[in-house]
Amino acid sequence: MALNTLASAPTVVVGAGIIGAAVAFELQRRGQQIVLVDRDEPGRGASFGNMASIAVTEFLPSSRPSIWSQIPRWMLDPQGPVRLRPSYLPRLTPWFLRFMAAGRPSRVRELESAGAALCKRVYDDLMPMLSAIGATDMLSTEGCLSLYADDAELAADREHLEVIERFGIAHQVLDADALRALEPGISRDIRHAVLFPENRTVRDPYRLVLALVQRFCELGGQLASGNVMGFERSEGRITALRLDGGRRIPAATLVLCAGAYTGRLSKLLDEAIPMETERGYHTQIMVPGTSLRHSLIWPARAFMVSPTAGGIRVGGTVEMAGLDAPPDYRRAKVLVERAKQALPGLEAREATEWMGHRPALPDTVPVMGPSAKTRGVFYAAGHGHLGLTYSATTARLMADLITGARPPIDMRPYRVSRF
Ligand SMILES: Cc1cc2nc3c(=O)[nH]c(=O)nc-3n(C[C@H](O)[C@H](O)[C@H](O)COP(=O)(O)OP(=O)(O)OC[C@H]3O[C@@H](n4cnc5c(N)ncnc54)[C@H](O)[C@@H]3O)c2cc1C
Repeated sequence: MALNTLASAPTVVVGAGIIGAAVAFELQRRGQQIVLVDRDEPGRGASFGNMASIAVTEFLPSSRPSIWSQIPRWMLDPQGPVRLRPSYLPRLTPWFLRFMAAGRPSRVRELESAGAALCKRVYDDLMPMLSAIGATDMLSTEGCLSLYADDAELAADREHLEVIERFGIAHQVLDADALRALEPGISRDIRHAVLFPENRTVRDPYRLVLALVQRFCELGGQLASGNVMGFERSEGRITALRLDGGRRIPAATLVLCAGAYTGRLSKLLDEAIPMETERGYHTQIMVPGTSLRHSLIWPARAFMVSPTAGGIRVGGTVEMAGLDAPPDYRRAKVLVERAKQALPGLEAREATEWMGHRPALPDTVPVMGPSAKTRGVFYAAGHGHLGLTYSATTARLMADLITGARPPIDMRPYRVSRF
């Protein structure tokens, strides 16, 4: 396709991760002419290696008073759940101040409601999307088990359980026997568990992106390869994107879904979005020596284990070190050692390691809505730990906003002008 000779300007979606792919697919289904642009192959960003969980119980804002008190301890522990590279501290400070501000109790309540409003819609949007691409079998039927070694660990997670209970999200407390009836491979040292039946697992989140892009193209959508370097505007309206190599794509509407890189692109539009990366790691174990039906999280040890199409995936952790620093795979190895404490039969044979950039806003909820500065520009980014979970819902809501339909929920909590 000769991108710069398009007769009428299309809607351009930047970023073919799970968010951009889902948004492009939904807009295409609603009859819009869409160009989906990425500088890489689709699905190679954060959406490639996440922990595959439709994690509808995990919407609590990251900044809460109960978390603040743990931050100093985490900072001193090189193997702790959150790691800050000291050289990155000056760059992180403005974001961190906003993070702290988002944790005041009244704001936490608002952010919980904003996250819960999305989580409560997840399956209403996800099932039709999976069905439309013939991929309902990509979703497991089993939920997630949250593990606790003792009474103290269970008590420490009470705040989380109380919040999900307040929003009516299903969970079931299990004793040790009931836990092992569900997953016989789990260590006898785990005394309590909570089952989150609705936190189902996508067998391969990368393949889900590919399936969406493939169906998008079959419906007439255009996939373009290029690094977005700049934008053209006229009278306060977007008119085109500039790609590397001097190429140009006309655009009547632009949707920025560039994950953790969205802040760099919004800056080119003179719009400041405080986007950080919470870097996370996984180890994909092809020959794990054990099997698992549910995904597992162990809140006190801050890791997750998911059964995936290619074996077992162990991952988690948050590393604050920016977009450009090289990965530190020691963090992935620590998680595998912890996972072995939960699953004594786990072996790490034929394993690969991966690092990805969670797109993180300081108040945890994504931006989904129109630009406050440039007409025709929309943002769908900053989904943090829940981009896979929120993907179909984001697509539904963004397509409503862009096509002028009324979204089924109040979109004000996700507006970009909140920053
Ligand atoms: C270890 C880990 C575990 C996770 N586990 C889960 C989980 O279990 N459940 C869940 O819901 N979420 C999980 N997440 C979060 C989830 O992966 C992300 O929120 C989600 O993938 C973000 O999707 P995205 O499409 O916004 O970004 P990405 O997948 O990163 O896609 C952004 C795309 O934009 C492109 N791009 C960027 N800049 C440009 C440019 N200038 N020009 C052209 N293209 C550009 C990139 O190439 C990329 O393809 C996890 C994340 C990590 C790291």
